[in-house]
Amino acid sequence: MFEKEIGWKFDNTYSNLSQSMLSKLNPTPVKTPELVLFNHNLSKEIDLDFSKVSNKELALIFSGNQLPKGSESIAQAYAGHQFGHFTILGDGRALMIGEHVAKNNNRYDIQFKGSGKTPYSRNADGRAALGPMLREYIISESMHHLGIPTTRSLAVTKTGENVIRESILKGAILTRVASSHIRVGTFQYALISKNKDDLKNLFDYTLKRHYPKIRKSENPAKDLLKVVLEKQIDLICNWMRVGFIHGVMNTDNMTISGETIDYGPCAFMDKYNPATVFSSIDHQGRYSYFNQPRIALWNLEKFAEALLPLIHNDSKEGIKLAKEVLKEFPEKYEKKSLEMMKKKLGIVGDDPKDKQLISELLLWMLQNKADYTNTFCYLMGEYRKKKEIYNETQFILWKIKWEERIKKNENSQENSLKIMRKVNPLIIPRNHLVEEALNFATESDDLHKVRELIKVLQNPYDRSLTNSPYQSTPSSEENYVTYCGT
Ligand code: AMP
Ligand code: MG
Repeated sequence: MFEKEIGWKFDNTYSNLSQSMLSKLNPTPVKTPELVLFNHNLSKEIDLDFSKVSNKELALIFSGNQLPKGSESIAQAYAGHQFGHFTILGDGRALMIGEHVAKNNNRYDIQFKGSGKTPYSRNADGRAALGPMLREYIISESMHHLGIPTTRSLAVTKTGENVIRESILKGAILTRVASSHIRVGTFQYALISKNKDDLKNLFDYTLKRHYPKIRKSENPAKDLLKVVLEKQIDLICNWMRVGFIHGVMNTDNMTISGETIDYGPCAFMDKYNPATVFSSIDHQGRYSYFNQPRIALWNLEKFAEALLPLIHNDSKEGIKLAKEVLKEFPEKYEKKSLEMMKKKLGIVGDDPKDKQLISELLLWMLQNKADYTNTFCYLMGEYRKKKEIYNETQFILWKIKWEERIKKNENSQENSLKIMRKVNPLIIPRNHLVEEALNFATESDDLHKVRELIKVLQNPYDRSLTNSPYQSTPSSEENYVTYCGT
């Protein structure tokens, strides 16, 4: 193996935390590993060079059958509120094989998902199916190219083994790259750990790794809550901008780094409807499109609870200080969200009627079942299909008001278009296209549609894609659901 040429530089600092926070173990070898997808662009970005490595050898590495030198694989312990209920969890089917340090000193967790049972597997098999792993690859790469912080996907490898879900499926392992896997749930776990130092050690570790600037501040724990709150507001605004619905915003699926993580029953909304949910088990609409900011705040409250002992010795005083931070969420979110929507419409400066203008468009979209992404494309002149709904009087009247608004603040239509083109994607991973590509891959071992889709998703703002089939809406997505059993 060309260990030196590849350029792995492992420095596994997370394992230095107390042993109660993790379990050291190796991936369970798989029967016949076969490489399905490999992200050469990403490997270059993190200074890894696999150009001299054959696909067969790549499959050995990215199935966990042959770990690279310097890696020390661990499963991380964490807890989490799942649909509001507290549970002890941990990597039940994932192993971090190490932290790779790139030339610019950026540190990346390299994690296998589907690599076998761990002490945190509970009654599950520790494995993953091909379809959902390809899906995570497609959607996470799309998120990255949409300009949204996210974990990345380096490889998908088939295991040659079956996994049993509702039916028998092909097994696979996804290699995930993240700036870390520290979650709100990791702090919740450390808080209740028998080892009293775990919380403080995790806290120090997190600051050093992600937010070194606040280590010297007056109250670093309060400031950590503040920066994470800001990161999460930015993240959720980005999700709302592109119509992304995470689907399982449990506290174990919220990172401290602010990256989107855990692509389970997530999907992009086609027709605008704030109540949209995709997850088959989300009967109450807890994780609907519209609820995402509220849930982010709920999760941050859980994060604050875990940080309380570090914010102040006196719990009452700690609660007071944490509340000071949390109470800023609604206003901060509103402000950022308004800015984001104004950009989507190319609006510059402030006008008391801006909010109303935005609400009127959203209401019209809801009432007319308009496609969220394509409506903004239509306004940019990047969706030219003859769509009856855009000839509708109410829409035309709204459009006149919008055009008048754009002219204000010494703004020009050209400038507005420039702003809009940066934030309104032409291409999103539409459910019907993702499903079609996945069906080819899982049913016929034919990856060409998956590859094609990944390619176009790399340039979501590219105007040459106007009127491409990738802008097409599904004939009916009324009952589109995604499943947790991944
Ligand atoms: P998720 O819903 O993907 O965030 O997963 C919630 C928890 O269930 C995590 O601790 C996972 O590691 C665990 N988990 C999910 N699927 C499996 C599986 N097939 N085997 C073991 N653990 C799993
Ligand atoms: Mg998870």
